[in-house]
Amino acid sequence: MRLILLGPPGSGKGTIAKKLEKKFHLLPISAGEILREEAAKGTLLGKEIRKYTDKGNLVPDNLVTEIIKLEINGKNNFILDGFPRTLEQAKGIRNITIDLVIYLEADEKTIVERLSGRRICRQGHHTYNLNYVPSAKKGICDVDGTPLIHRKDDKPAVIKQRFKVYNHTIRPLLGYYEQKRILKKVNAALPPEEVFKEVKKVIKK
Ligand code: AMP
Repeated sequence: MRLILLGPPGSGKGTIAKKLEKKFHLLPISAGEILREEAAKGTLLGKEIRKYTDKGNLVPDNLVTEIIKLEINGKNNFILDGFPRTLEQAKGIRNITIDLVIYLEADEKTIVERLSGRRICRQGHHTYNLNYVPSAKKGICDVDGTPLIHRKDDKPAVIKQRFKVYNHTIRPLLGYYEQKRILKKVNAALPPEEVFKEVKKVIKK
């Protein structure tokens, strides 16, 4: 099965992708994670990527599309998380058959609340939230025992910019997949377990 998860930053795409991986053995391909890994390497490409990610802007379409296509590379069971984010990117993978696009809907207030409390572990990409899913020991990952970080782009000013960018690009993308009749919407303002139940229903239909 080839799935796409769409939704604003903080709508829980990463969390749902990990749950889908466990339940359906689909490989999550997270554009944000791949870009952050490259940026952390400090390569020329990484430095180019940071010019955009640090400010909450989108990395150019051709660059991110090439990176994701390399990652897909003939695989048949995957979830794209955070890609495509623009109509151009969607068109860039038009030769790859997508079975279902799940749109995780959430309002801006929910998003800002979630993202300002989000903390991540660099080691295994485990995600916590100070308000909803705190780690057992403050600031330390339960699984890896490494320090948790507040992503630079999860700070309020950058969140606002990311949401602005998102609102600007999402409509044409939704229209594109609606027309292909593969778009399904799920309310993502609920707790993760509830959202996952809805996602499973949509997949099994
Ligand atoms: P995320 O972890 O999905 O919120 O992504 C973090 C940042 O990576 C975004 O704010 C963008 O700067 C960049 N990014 C992630 N996915 C894409 C994409 N599909 N196209 C362009 N930039 C992206």
